[in-house]
Amino acid sequence: MKLCIVGAGLSGAVLGRELAAAGLDITIVDEREHIAGNCHTERDPDTGVMMHRYGPHIFHTDNKEVWDFVSQFCVMMPYVNRVKAIANGHVYTLPINLLTINQFFGKTLLPDEARKFIASKARMDIGVPGNFEEQAQSMIGDELYRAFFYGYTKKQWGVEPTELPASILKRLPVRFNYDDNYFNHKYQGMPRDGYTSLVEKIIEHPRIHLKLQTKFEEIDASIYDHVFYTGPIDRYFGYKFGRLGYRTLDFEKFHAEGDYQGTAVINFCDQDIPYTRITEHKHFSPWEADSFQRTVCYREYSRACCEGDIPYYPIRLVNEKRMLSDYIGLANASHRVSFLGRLGTYRYLDMDVTIAEALDASKRVRNLLEIGDKLPAFFLDPLK
Ligand code: FAD
Ligand code: UDP
Repeated sequence: MKLCIVGAGLSGAVLGRELAAAGLDITIVDEREHIAGNCHTERDPDTGVMMHRYGPHIFHTDNKEVWDFVSQFCVMMPYVNRVKAIANGHVYTLPINLLTINQFFGKTLLPDEARKFIASKARMDIGVPGNFEEQAQSMIGDELYRAFFYGYTKKQWGVEPTELPASILKRLPVRFNYDDNYFNHKYQGMPRDGYTSLVEKIIEHPRIHLKLQTKFEEIDASIYDHVFYTGPIDRYFGYKFGRLGYRTLDFEKFHAEGDYQGTAVINFCDQDIPYTRITEHKHFSPWEADSFQRTVCYREYSRACCEGDIPYYPIRLVNEKRMLSDYIGLANASHRVSFLGRLGTYRYLDMDVTIAEALDASKRVRNLLEIGDKLPAFFLDPLK
């Protein structure tokens, strides 16, 4: 069988590897001049610092299978994501923890005292939160919400937080101790040689043929028995029902001497500062950060994604979900194509979930091919 995979990001690479290892011939095409999709890393020519070109990526997971999978292909260096936030002219630590609470309210509360104090601030009248704002106010009350979430979220998503689903905030923990690790996951790290090297190793297999700078639309897809498409689902269907809404990011790159901000990520929560965060890339590689005299940073701006922009964050409000279900209908009626990955299923996916889903899809594909069954358009329900 000849199989084509569109996209050399983590979804395409992991699926390709697993299917090639099972004896199938794989061609991976990607329109970019590099592999690894949005996780791509490269050395900055001016400073030598390893840069996350499409925004900062920290690997974190509770999934041992996924951790073991990536560890075969790279050396994972210890890395803990500790994020600082500037609000109303003061620096705090995120996610909201005991230090944030004590600094913000000028107190010296112990954990149980802080729990009761925040409970007294939280809005009790809400019941089941119906949107982002209600979720925040029922967890932490109005003052912390306004300082850390309201302005940042408006900048990030371009709408009032009342228009966003509560689920966007549920990803962030609130802690009543001094743990300022941004993630709760058991495994966390950074690939020593960058994500592009990781993906390079994943697709290093004699049955995988890679074609970069190749748009799917330009190849003769009829020579393949099946196509796995990890690009945008609306694009595959020529935007027949319109464009699914995304936020895109603009990165304003700048250089400085020495250490610019003393840490990898600072969020800017106030509305009057136009960017959402500044990332200083050498701090993502703490084991080598001191060896660089100069430094490279990104100011990150979020805005609506237009034609020609890179789609980053799927918006998934009611209208987009309606349009998505129309595309799902078309996909289910199509033959010899399956959709996966963050763009193929129009979902925000962390890298570990992306890898887990690609591993799972490859198992399903192998089983279905073995019994001679048709491959599905999706390996899970993109609307869930
Ligand atoms: P992608 O990486 O987008 O790969 C898709 C590939 O398909 C691209 O290379 C594209 O060029 C190619 N393509 C698309 N259409 C076509 C076409 N028609 N023809 C040819 N090629 C095509 N996850 C974490 O776990 N930790 C983090 O800290 C983290 N930070 C993030 C920060 C930002 C700003 C963003 C946006 C995401 C972050 N993620 C993070 C998520 C992570 O980027 C995704 O999990 C991962 O990139 C998904 O991989 P993918 O292969 O599905 O998609
Ligand atoms: N958020 C915020 N202030 C912050 C960090 C996050 O308001 O300092 C909000 C924002 O709406 C973001 C959401 O919380 O989209 C989830 O945060 P996360 O760090 O997971 O952001 P993402 O990975 O989506 O950029």
